[in-house]
Amino acid sequence: MIEEGVFPHYSLAELHAHLGASMSTATLWQIAHDLGVQLPKKEYDDFRQYVTLSEDRKMSLADYEKKIYHPVLDKLSSGTHAVEQATYQILSNAYRNKGISLIELRNNPMRHNRNAEFDLDHIIMAMLRGMERALLEYRGLSAGLIFCMARKFSYEQNAIIVEKAIKYHRRGVIGVDVADSADPSFHIKDYKELLDKARQVGLKVTIHSGEAEDTDDMWEVLEYAKPDRIGHGIRAARDPELMEELARRKVVLEVCPMSNLVTGALPNIKALKTALHKLIDYEVLFCINTDWPEMIQHGGLRRQYQMLRDNNILSEADLERCNKIAWEASFIPEKRGLAAYL
Ligand SMILES: [Zn+2]
Repeated sequence: MIEEGVFPHYSLAELHAHLGASMSTATLWQIAHDLGVQLPKKEYDDFRQYVTLSEDRKMSLADYEKKIYHPVLDKLSSGTHAVEQATYQILSNAYRNKGISLIELRNNPMRHNRNAEFDLDHIIMAMLRGMERALLEYRGLSAGLIFCMARKFSYEQNAIIVEKAIKYHRRGVIGVDVADSADPSFHIKDYKELLDKARQVGLKVTIHSGEAEDTDDMWEVLEYAKPDRIGHGIRAARDPELMEELARRKVVLEVCPMSNLVTGALPNIKALKTALHKLIDYEVLFCINTDWPEMIQHGGLRRQYQMLRDNNILSEADLERCNKIAWEASFIPEKRGLAAYL
């Protein structure tokens, strides 16, 4: 619930948050101890600091994925028990404590099955149970899952992820994505047919692109993936022609400001302000998101809105518009809440 006098006073929509990095460190710690998993740090506070990035502890996207994201966060949110708990806790906590009424949570289900030790359908059903329970408990909440393919996976592995998204679409999988830092063997062009197939059953498409220097070319993403939205996309601000095209196609950029600052995708607040104002000048639609709300110090959605206002990066009117764009660009069916999937 939103405390009186707290900015922003309206209900927020979050379109870009990854499951592993949306669990609180306390939940991760508890799951680790439930399962008896070995952790890189023995003291809770050391562990919290180890997994959390901040202005003083930056790490590139590729390094964070390799050292912390996959070996710690994904591992701890793996298996049916952990993934159900994680999904339920993240969604209910967002609604109860963070003033977020609409949340799209993304993950790569194959990164939560402990290298195929668990059956993928069991993992997905566990996520959906966690989501359904949160939707049943909190009637004002709307939620949906997005399945991420991985640039580091083979085409065959990624095709399985899309097949599962199609299979569980009516139960709450609302879209597909491509995530992870760049890999030379990955070409978005190879995925055109697969993404067309996903779209035919009603799945929406968002693609991580234009984040770090080395991710795919955004022009190719537009041409072959025809995305409804783009994850990050902040680098478009350097290409006037690309911004014109994004505006023409009404593709919404899921901007993740603090994530870009702690991974070094943007060097500083000044560069963030310049990029966002370019997007506004070119009438590119964008919204504000967290990416890794619990793994970035003060990285919660409300704190990011406050940071953008307090540093004069965006005005209150700009921010209200960002939230409106997020609500309108959501992949969750119109009925919203639990009714969206009944
Ligand atoms: Zn992301």
